[in-house]
Amino acid sequence: MNVLVTGGAGYVGSVCAQQLLAAGHKVAVIDDLSTGHRQAVPRGAVFVQADLADTRTIGQLVKDTGVAAVMHFAAAALVEKSMTDPRYYFEINVQKALQFLHLLLELEVNDFIFSSTAAVYGEPVSTPITEDHPLRPINAYGESKLMFENILHWYHRAYGLRYVALRYFNAAGADGELGEDHQPETHLIPRLLNAALDQAFEFAIYGDDYPTSDGTCIRDYVHVLDIAEAHVLALNALPVVKGAVYNVGHSEGHSVRKVLDAVAEVTGRHFPVRTAPRRVGDPAVLVASSEKIARELCWHPRHSDLKNIVRSAWAWKQQHASGYGPPAVQ
Ligand code: UDP
Repeated sequence: MNVLVTGGAGYVGSVCAQQLLAAGHKVAVIDDLSTGHRQAVPRGAVFVQADLADTRTIGQLVKDTGVAAVMHFAAAALVEKSMTDPRYYFEINVQKALQFLHLLLELEVNDFIFSSTAAVYGEPVSTPITEDHPLRPINAYGESKLMFENILHWYHRAYGLRYVALRYFNAAGADGELGEDHQPETHLIPRLLNAALDQAFEFAIYGDDYPTSDGTCIRDYVHVLDIAEAHVLALNALPVVKGAVYNVGHSEGHSVRKVLDAVAEVTGRHFPVRTAPRRVGDPAVLVASSEKIARELCWHPRHSDLKNIVRSAWAWKQQHASGYGPPAVQ
């Protein structure tokens, strides 16, 4: 199948593009490279640098490559920034995404896999979190993703759009040459690895007074390769499931301290750690129930053991101490 991957130069998008190619699909990537990296686009994929609202370029690409399905990753995804600049988040994640979706419907591309997030749930009222947990996002990022999920739901009912929305928990780990390089880097594991590489890096635990066993926040880390596999399974299942939402998590929680210990063990390095105040908007515990996706799509995370995640991310970080670096000369 010919699959269009938006945001295929980004962290999860590039790994999914790679897995689609490995599964025998043809892949076209669009990315505006505002946060993605040209070097992350897998060889074998057609690449076009384009804004999501550039309907002329995208329309041409869809026609030229015979796109039959879309995986949509291109989005603004920094929680904190979404609180100070919600307008940007709604513009990219809703307005431009909707314009893009309308173009697809016009071109009769009706199969759509959407990169959603656990941030749609907000502060959990029960754990592990199932898909029918209340949806009350506490940041504009989560709200923007939920709005788009709702649009997909209604378009499925009215226009026969077939979609799966995948709500990831904490994406982590690397896949060989493809790893995590955000500017700024806010995520726990890459920040810990930066500290392991560079003693001058100031790593802080954001709060050790949470109501958890060691006082630090608990999250559900899921390997990016397992997330990619969920996308490929979802794509194959579209003719049957037609419209559905699934959590994608390992269903196992690890505290910040536990992740820190795993990083120290895997890297064999010790580095200064201080405790800082809590980060605004961080719930104490976020752990997925992934029973639904296991039952309906036969998805079982194979790479998400914490040590395995850290080992793969460390291998990538050692090769890419400054991330992907400046774009390679074409
Ligand atoms: N965290 C931390 N120090 C850091 C980065 C993150 O203590 O330098 C904590 C953060 O407060 C959260 C957990 O690590 O409890 C995971 O954070 P991350 O930003 O990776 O993912 P999130 O769960 O916020 O999506």
